[in-house]
Amino acid sequence: MKSQDITATWYDYFAAKGHTKVPSASLVSPDPSLLFTVAGMVPFIPYFLGLETPPYSRAVSVQKCIRTADIEEVGKTARHGTFFQMCGNFSFGDYFKETAIPMAWELLTTPVEGNPETGLRGYGLDPERLWVTVYEDDDEAYAIWRDQVGVPEERIQRFGPEDNYWNTGQPGPGGPCSEIYYDRGPAYGAEGGPAADETRYVEIWNLVFMQYRLSAVHSKSEFEVAGPLQNKNIDTGLGLERLAMILQGVENMYETDQVRPVLDRAAQLAGVTYTSTEDPADPKHSTDVRLRMIADHVRSALMLISDGVRPSNEGGGFILRRLIRRVILAMRLLGVEKPVFGELIEVSKNAMQGVYPEVAEKFETIQRVAVKEEQAFLRTISAGTERLQTAVTRAKSSGSALSGEDAFALHDTYGFPLDLTLEMAEEAGVSVDQEKFRELMTEQRERARADAKGKKSGHADTEVYQELYAGRPTHFTGYTEHTTESRI
Ligand code: ATP
Ligand code: MG
Ligand code: MG
Ligand code: MG
Repeated sequence: MKSQDITATWYDYFAAKGHTKVPSASLVSPDPSLLFTVAGMVPFIPYFLGLETPPYSRAVSVQKCIRTADIEEVGKTARHGTFFQMCGNFSFGDYFKETAIPMAWELLTTPVEGNPETGLRGYGLDPERLWVTVYEDDDEAYAIWRDQVGVPEERIQRFGPEDNYWNTGQPGPGGPCSEIYYDRGPAYGAEGGPAADETRYVEIWNLVFMQYRLSAVHSKSEFEVAGPLQNKNIDTGLGLERLAMILQGVENMYETDQVRPVLDRAAQLAGVTYTSTEDPADPKHSTDVRLRMIADHVRSALMLISDGVRPSNEGGGFILRRLIRRVILAMRLLGVEKPVFGELIEVSKNAMQGVYPEVAEKFETIQRVAVKEEQAFLRTISAGTERLQTAVTRAKSSGSALSGEDAFALHDTYGFPLDLTLEMAEEAGVSVDQEKFRELMTEQRERARADAKGKKSGHADTEVYQELYAGRPTHFTGYTEHTTESRI
């Protein structure tokens, strides 16, 4: 099933269940406390907080999302993209668990061709491969899964607040959630459900039950429940790419129909073969990870530029810049030094325009923005290369390693990434004093922190929802952050 068909089935199913179709909001978050839209519920925040009355009591959407918190996972796990689409159904004081849970099950397990009685189409997943989790105290959800839906007890697991409790990080609504996982089979890891292995058992859908009023939130796992909410809400999110990966029988989300063409073109440009490996011990792994990352980031850049983001040194513009630079760097590490962005982004446009016609309409502008940014970065790289060569010569003649100071100056002053320094120094037979480099990076980070005067920039995966209401700006610390693929 193509991604476009997954979306169509999603809308049709929930429309048949009385939901109003709400188009995706922009990737630039409509909520001022967030930089990007990180989940399907973001555009509905005012309704969930009771600040505004929704014009409908049930809504369905397929929301474009960006999660920069997941950037280091991209290409390494099968399931994390910086851009992805979250399919959601929402109830504002209308139905609750007793309806949301059986609907989710029905949609996942109804045959693709449709149920002859109801006429509804589904995703045809094998019920035996589905596992569910509930919050440790949520006996209601447990009973609905077991008694109403018929999931055997062995495939229902109870998780603690770290995983299965949603709140805003502040006094306000909160509640347990219940997640659905798909078992990819013994080839992918140990038996034992999601509690044992999240690679074999892939999380596909999160159902959040907003049912309590919290009077205090101390941490993710410590909060005080004041009582039930008058209006109970449902907020769910299913990862379109994760479902596509299952339904298309591919190894990971980067091999699905909206992403794979970019991966293939990148491999072709680099003259390398992609092998689908997830095993870090496999010598092909680093090439595969780079190709997957390139495919992901090119798509994210396409969608961000389409939504009006422009490369810059701060906020969302910096994230876009970083995505573009990581692609260029990864291509270089695959041996390609000529400009590639214009071509890759066009391939991505072709894969996305069926669902997002605006990327075709605005393509000339999108491509111009990306290509201009690439040219600027390539100039940076060539200027840095000269300086690097001087440093290499100096190191060679004194028989020592390339100094941490030189590597740091290249990075800090000339924007020349450490990975490239390492790679080029290695070619010249010189090692790099990485310890000193890291020391200087840490010092710089501490200076930056002092400058930020208490502005928080926590970005842990689990904080993604927390940041929604905490009122703190979500800004990115990429310049000072240690990453593996690049330290741009
Ligand atoms: P994971 O534990 O796999 O990182 P999550 O618990 O952070 O996922 P949720 O916040 O519950 O994810 O989001 C709801 C759904 O959105 C997930 O069940 C998943 O299908 C999808 N999703 C979340 N993050 C990503 C991502 N980075 N790329 C693709 N899909 C994602
Ligand atoms: Mg999770
Ligand atoms: Mg989740
Ligand atoms: Mg996550």
